[in-house]
Formats: sequence, C-alpha cells, structure tokens
Amino acid sequence: MVQKIKDFVLKDVQSENETKKTAVTLRISALMLCLYFLSLFAVFCAIKDIRSAVICLVCIGCYLVSFYTTYLNHTKFASIFSQALMALWILIFIWEYGWDCGVQHFVFVLLVLNFTVSAGTMGMKIGAAALACAYRIFLYAYTNRYDPVTNISVDTGVLFQIINTLAIFAELTAIMIVFTRDSQEMEYKLVKYNEKLEHMASIDPLTGLYNRWSMRSYLEKIAGKYASGEIGYVSVAIGDIDFFKKTNDTYGHDAGDMVLKELAKVFLEAMEKEGKVCRWGGEEFLFVFQNKNGDQANEVLHDILKRIRGMGIPYQSDWIHVTMTFGLEEYSGEKDMETIIRAADQKLYHGKENGRNQIVY
Ligand code: GH3
Ligand code: MG
Ligand code: MG
Repeated sequence: MVQKIKDFVLKDVQSENETKKTAVTLRISALMLCLYFLSLFAVFCAIKDIRSAVICLVCIGCYLVSFYTTYLNHTKFASIFSQALMALWILIFIWEYGWDCGVQHFVFVLLVLNFTVSAGTMGMKIGAAALACAYRIFLYAYTNRYDPVTNISVDTGVLFQIINTLAIFAELTAIMIVFTRDSQEMEYKLVKYNEKLEHMASIDPLTGLYNRWSMRSYLEKIAGKYASGEIGYVSVAIGDIDFFKKTNDTYGHDAGDMVLKELAKVFLEAMEKEGKVCRWGGEEFLFVFQNKNGDQANEVLHDILKRIRGMGIPYQSDWIHVTMTFGLEEYSGEKDMETIIRAADQKLYHGKENGRNQIVY
C-alpha cells in the first residue's frame, strides 16, 4: 500500500522534455497543503466556526485538483496553477483573519516554488520573486489599514501559528530533499562520466596502453617529483619495432595490429613496477623509468628485448617474429624532458643505423 502511494507520487511525467522533479515537488506540496487545511479544518470545527471550516474544505478541494494537474501532459500548467492557488488563498486568509494568522509566511514557500518548479527563464523567476516581495508588503499594508472579517481568538491564533510553522518547515524541507537529492545524484553521475571520458581520452584503443597525451602529463609530474627530490632517478627510452612495414606487407595490417597488441602486453608486464609505458606513435613506444638510473633501466630493457626476440606471435598458420631497437637516456634535471626524449630518439636512430635489434645507451 505504502509502495503503491510512493509509486503514484513519484510517477514520471509523460512529456519527454520535462523533469519528473517538478511534478513530484508539486504533488508532495499539494498533499502537504491538504494536510495543512485538514488540520485547520479540525481547529475550526472544534471552535464551531463553520464558515472557516468550509473555506478549508474548498482549499482541500483545490489542492486535490492541483495534485491531479501534475498527471496531465504539461507540468508547466500544474506549476502555474499551484502557485496562483497559493497566492490566492494567502490573500483570502489575510483578508479573512488578518496579519496575526501568519499565513503571509507562505509567501516564502511561494518564492521557493517559483525557483524550483517554474519553467520560466532566470529573468522571469527574479521578476516573480520581486513580485512575491511586493505582494507581502501589500498584504502588510492592507492589514494595517483594514480590519479582518473574522477576529480569531488568542488561542486560535496560537494554534494557527503552530500549524503554519509546521506546514511551512515540512513543505520547504520536502522541496529541498527532492531537489538536492537529485542534483547530488546527478553530480555523482557526472563525476563518474568524466572519469570514464578522461580514461577513454588517455588510452590508446588498439593496445590499451596510455597514449602520448596522457604520457605528457605523466612526464610533467615526474619532472616535478624529481625536482622536489621525491624520486632520485628518472630514465627515458624510446623503442621502435624493426622493419614493421615489412611485417605489415608480408602478413597484412591485421597481423601488424596483433603484433602491436602482443608487444604491449609484454611492455605492461615488464613496466608494472618500473614506471610507465605509452604508445608514443605508430610503432614507437616511450618508456619512463621512475627511480631507475640509466644502468638499471638498461637491465629492464634487456629483459624486454630478450622476451621479444624469443617471442613468436601466432597468426593464422604462421609465427610472426619481430625485434626492436631502443634508445635510452637518463634524466638529470639539467635539460628538460623534451630534450631528453630527443636524445633518446637520436640513440634509437643510431641503433637503427647500426644493425637494429639492440639498446643504445
Ligand atoms: P624501421 O626498422 O626503420 O623502423 O622500419 P619500419 O618499417 O618499422 O619503419 P617505417 O617507419 O618505414 O614503417 C613503420 C610502419 O608502421 C608503417 C606503418 O604502416 C606501420 N604502422 C604504424 N601504425 C600502425 C598500426 O596501428 N597498425 C599497423 N598494423 N601498422 C602500423
Ligand atoms: Mg619501425
Ligand atoms: Mg618508426
């Protein structure tokens, strides 16, 4: 039963370009105000003020209609109806019972509804807020000049104030819950989505390695760590597959892709604890060694090269064998990363000139 009522109140809107939040807020608001008028109705019945009790019943009827309007096609109408209704009964109550009945505080609820459920532009909302302010001043001026139709007793006035306070706090709390919960959920979703986008933007889709873009920010970070003394050594190497064009020409582009993927697995495994590796370009890879001097990085590269030399990559009925050439340079902080990478590239070039399948350090 409770679940059914919850589902009914939380039911989504029919129109695709309208938010469910508005309808739910208006429904909760209408139900709360029904409860508010029911409480006042009980008070008026107790003091045998039939005229006021009837006014409360009429208000309940109007809020049931307001509730119903949120299930129609456009919540825009429901929103205008709800706010106009509130402005109207505030006026009637002030006229009937005077300033002391305290319903003028509902103008603040009106103000919050205006900003949360109205479909207008920000300019229109600010205009409506100014109107609400003027409306409250008008009500005050009116009660200063004219006496109320019905004089309520001190006790009834106290009850009125208590019921008003409870209703206004409950209503504002409900609106805040609906709006802040949704926006927090949305914020969380956006953070997650941003993380996903960032991940997608930093990864090379073929090999799953980091791409050049994300390696650049890593290099900056590493240079900063080196400068602050957080890490003692940094070494950088560029590796390039030997005669890769020939591999492509012999076995096809798909086979070439497969070679890139298989090599990437070897690099990732070997570099897991050493630093970072990325796909720097087509068949070139950049290796950054954290806390490894040139000699130590050289050892790691020798292990990698040894594995590549012994590796056969199955493709259809063939085994593809490749070798690689590396250029290695130690970072000293005296030259910037770009210069170090260029130096490593130069060494790679010498390696290519001098027979390939080697590490030049
Ligand atoms: P070297 O030993 O001098 O490096 O010779 P190489 O043939 O490897 O060098 P070259 O620069 O002449 O050719 C590189 C080739 O790498 C050409 C290009 O088609 C291939 N390549 C680059 N990116 C990809 C890729 O994503 N997939 C495949 N299959 N091939 C790629
Ligand atoms: Mg090559
Ligand atoms: Mg190349």
